Amino acid sequence: MSIYMIRAKKIVTVSQSGTIEDGAMVIENEKILDVGTWENLSKQYPSIQVIEYADYVVTPSLVDCHTHLLEFAPTSLYPVTPETHFIAGKAILFHALSSGITALGEQICGHPLGDFRVEDYRKAIHGIPLNVSFATTSISIGFEKIAHFTSITQSTAVRKKDLIDPFLVKQIAKESDYPGENIFINATPANFTINEVPKAGEIIYSVEEMKGIVDIYHQLGKKIGAHVAGKEGIAMALAAGVDVLHHAHGITDEQIERASNLGVQIVATPIGGTHLTPNSPEEVLKFVNENIALSISTDAYLPPYPGVAWLPYADQLLKGPDQLMLIANPSMQLLKQNNYDENTILALLTNNPAIILGKENQFGRLEKGLDANFLVAEGIPGLEITEMEKIKKVYYRGKTVIARH
Ligand SMILES: [Zn+2]
Repeated sequence: MSIYMIRAKKIVTVSQSGTIEDGAMVIENEKILDVGTWENLSKQYPSIQVIEYADYVVTPSLVDCHTHLLEFAPTSLYPVTPETHFIAGKAILFHALSSGITALGEQICGHPLGDFRVEDYRKAIHGIPLNVSFATTSISIGFEKIAHFTSITQSTAVRKKDLIDPFLVKQIAKESDYPGENIFINATPANFTINEVPKAGEIIYSVEEMKGIVDIYHQLGKKIGAHVAGKEGIAMALAAGVDVLHHAHGITDEQIERASNLGVQIVATPIGGTHLTPNSPEEVLKFVNENIALSISTDAYLPPYPGVAWLPYADQLLKGPDQLMLIANPSMQLLKQNNYDENTILALLTNNPAIILGKENQFGRLEKGLDANFLVAEGIPGLEITEMEKIKKVYYRGKTVIARH
């Protein structure tokens, strides 16, 4: 079937067209050929096959632009060995796909238990109906003795001074597809529970060191993102010219305004990921009010930050990308209460993270010429539904890759 049309109760396009009631979309050879009302398109394309989703909402599929599914997750979730690491990795990716996510921004940080090269990760995704971008990074983990790793040096720990070595930084930068958390301005708790990582939050770099790293990325024509939290670290990131702030927990109102003026993009992780309380719905509202094209991401797999009012968890178990809709829901609800349009709200999980990945001309909206990556669901993901079971179909490049009956 190279051409077909779907008809839905409504289509939330996240494009200039907004929401289309009784909508239709024509798909030809992996791409969206046309989107409009059923009334118009049924006349324009009278003889092609129609798939009826009269009770359902059709939206772009989700984009999670900050995850650790292939490197950290397999050893955290399963008793894998290097021989079986990527079997678990593929199961984890399938689980993400079944949650309505068809594009990921994966971090390759270097890991004591994963002696893989960046190309091993790239190879592991072959044949999986998911669009994966990789950010290659260095990482500083806040153990009692802070441990540093990089995507290039793999499982061998490095010294702080290696993290600013221009030769190594250049190698890391060259491999990076997009501005993920390329550097960790603060030592991270990673996916460890708080008591295991007492040094989480400690600032690793001087502003001068950071500027040197930022320059290397920019000279290669690449953007750089940073893992950062707290007023001091965020001030340094903005001063150093970092393009994307990941987490930005504890950002001040002035810094939100400054980030907006500088055109700095932000990836919020309301579940946790740093030493500080994660992004609240009120903070997300401030980002959107300041016209920042905000993305919400899971940083999966992570334990939820303990004692946070807007998270529904009573445990410290690792949470995966299947939680994206749930952790975004309080923020999306608050945006709705503040009269934001549902397309603007859904952009936090679709178009905006696609921009972070540099793939906004490929997916993230339902628009003529883009990949036919979309969901058939019982409501708007994250805003009206939070459970993966309410996503009935996942389409990737025009093909049904997940179907719940
Ligand atoms: Zn992360």
